[in-house]
Amino acid sequence: MKIFMFPCSADQPCKWLESLGIHQKGMWRMKCSCYSHCPFGLLPVKGGLWDSWGGLDEEEYPGDLPFRNQLRDGISSPILLSCWSEYYNLRSLPLSSPIADILSHSLTIYYILTALSINSKNLLLKEKEVIVTYLGPEGEMDWMPASGIIQTVMIGPEVPTNLSGTTSGISSRFRVKLVRGVYQEEATYLPSPHVIVALNCALDRYSNWGGALDLIKAIGVPAFFTEQSEILCANAKQVLRGAGLRITHPVTPNPFRSPVKNNNSSTNLHSYSNGFVLGVNT
Ligand SMILES: [Zn+2]
Repeated sequence: MKIFMFPCSADQPCKWLESLGIHQKGMWRMKCSCYSHCPFGLLPVKGGLWDSWGGLDEEEYPGDLPFRNQLRDGISSPILLSCWSEYYNLRSLPLSSPIADILSHSLTIYYILTALSINSKNLLLKEKEVIVTYLGPEGEMDWMPASGIIQTVMIGPEVPTNLSGTTSGISSRFRVKLVRGVYQEEATYLPSPHVIVALNCALDRYSNWGGALDLIKAIGVPAFFTEQSEILCANAKQVLRGAGLRITHPVTPNPFRSPVKNNNSSTNLHSYSNGFVLGVNT
């Protein structure tokens, strides 16, 4: 992924952000440990896209207008994006803009809904609502201004109590409802999803995935997971198989992974946010 013209190696996140002039600013505050005292979802924002994007130049971040559907033969259809350069072109963004690092989450979900999940793609083609259950959001809660695409229920133990149950309409085409709790306990109260996603989920690291995976197996809804490195993918496959799930979407590189390389201190291997995608029940 050598198309970008900003430094793409962030072994020291603070230094990387500093080199781009966005350290401790806007949504980037969740990209290093400097704001780790601030619970996910509760970063104070002054308001405005310019602040959210940490004062980047106006031409370096996308406006908040949703993608316009393309008209083909008089029929409106969603724009299908297959790589970052298409997105940057569509939004007329310079390749020096680092926003791909934050937009990786929304674009990965968009890619799953429009390219990997046939069911949700068909719904979008018919301009019907797609309901996504998003498991275990953390920093993404503070990056919601960066989204703008879909209807999502984000559920996880990290959702702050005072935000639980709130719905925010970020644009006419995107609503997010936040729910604090554990998926398998809350699922009966939630709208039944067309697709379940969990990003950078580190399936091998959290024992509480077990209950959620049992439920995914029971309801048979397509579920997609991203992991940051191939080793984590190998571990995730074992965890999924151990839960009795069959991997129907094999591990593939995600075209909308973050281009920014991190050094995983425990394994000393490079990793990328949303590096690889795999799926079950697909
Ligand atoms: Zn920092």
